[in-house]
Amino acid sequence: MSVFQAPDFLELDELITPEQKEVRDHIRAFVTDRFLPVVAQHYREGTFPLELAGELGGLGAFGPTIRGYGCRGMGNVAAGLIMQELERGDSGLRTFASVQGSLAMTAIDLFGSEEQKARWLPPMSRGEMLGAFALTEPDFGSNPAGMQCRAREGSDGYVLNGAKKWIGNATVADVVVVWARVGEGIDPQAIRGFLVEKGTAGFKPSLIDGKLSLRVSLTASIEFTDCLVPVDALLPKSHGLRSPLECLNHARFGIAWGAIGAAMACYDEARQYSLHRQQFGKPIASFQLVQAKLVAMLTEITKAQLLALRVAQLKDAGRAKHYHISMAKMNNVAMAIECAQTARDILGAEGILDTRACMRHMCNLESVKTYEGTEDIHRLILGQQITGISSFSG
Ligand SMILES: Cc1cc2nc3c(=O)[nH]c(=O)nc-3n(C[C@H](O)[C@H](O)[C@H](O)COP(=O)(O)OP(=O)(O)OC[C@H]3O[C@@H](n4cnc5c(N)ncnc54)[C@H](O)[C@@H]3O)c2cc1C
Repeated sequence: MSVFQAPDFLELDELITPEQKEVRDHIRAFVTDRFLPVVAQHYREGTFPLELAGELGGLGAFGPTIRGYGCRGMGNVAAGLIMQELERGDSGLRTFASVQGSLAMTAIDLFGSEEQKARWLPPMSRGEMLGAFALTEPDFGSNPAGMQCRAREGSDGYVLNGAKKWIGNATVADVVVVWARVGEGIDPQAIRGFLVEKGTAGFKPSLIDGKLSLRVSLTASIEFTDCLVPVDALLPKSHGLRSPLECLNHARFGIAWGAIGAAMACYDEARQYSLHRQQFGKPIASFQLVQAKLVAMLTEITKAQLLALRVAQLKDAGRAKHYHISMAKMNNVAMAIECAQTARDILGAEGILDTRACMRHMCNLESVKTYEGTEDIHRLILGQQITGISSFSG
């Protein structure tokens, strides 16, 4: 395998601190040394190297911006760089960290009681305990406000009934943050978060088989049948759909950075391949059409880097709005898909192999385009921001 050469056309390294670089370089080395040697096998088998969770925790990959409870309290540039490097390896690896940190741990941090935080966040930050985040249902994806999962309040606690679908890590999680509607009405304000522990009676996760995308990630359906959880399973500060959406904002920010990592891997693979691959007596990099493709990739990666960096700065300043993050997620994932397709093209037949990165990234990014708000949902969020008119409401 050739040595990865990260594209930094505008010398953006100058804009990040030595500490941020150090965090990035540790994750980069981990991905090169520990993850990339096993990714093809896991991709073939549709499995995830769970044994790496502790090492990822040691590198600060889980909930890096959370303060206290054993977490590092890093800034958003460092957190973004972590996601970029993880997804340089595989979107499944970044998804693992996003589900654990940006979704499950963030929900506990933002909406949990002191006891819930003290119990779950330290072992989750170390990767000793795993979390999942269950919002999507079989009939409610882009429109989670319509969710049907119910939590009925009883004398012993809450009884959950309903179904969730497409839930990352649910089959291996020690705790799943489940979003359900309390009471009988359809008021989105009645949506609350619950911590459901592994092995709870009536909680049945099952692996979704047959994925052609994000294969190095465990994705599950969940059935809740009269699943009784104690009163203190409720995340007390969760109120309404706004609560899970706040967690999604953190995860979407990480995706905007992660997609750059996938694109960087594809660009680097294509550039290096084009310099070595000879056709018509010369390297294919000498053909103008190939050069034009590489130029397009690098230009779009550079623009995406600038976008992600600025949103991180705004986030650090407490000024990043959900629509800023929507633009970064929408643009950077679409950009990465283009880069993956172009790289696959430049590699010719070699490009379809799972020993190369580009087609794996290309397939993965189809999931990344869909989850955490599809590309079009982010387009509509931006449309609403620009025009003041919501296309979601009638
Ligand atoms: C691999 C994977 C992992 C996932 N992990 C998780 C997880 O851990 N936890 C979790 O809760 N969820 C998870 N999801 C679910 C994900 O968030 C949803 O798939 C996503 O929100 C889209 O929902 P949907 O698939 O039901 O598509 P739908 O909402 O049915 O959308 C289908 C199409 O219709 C379009 N559409 C929908 N509404 C509109 C509209 N108003 N205007 C225009 N077009 C519209 C969409 O853009 C899309 O093109 C995961 C999904 C995948 C694929």
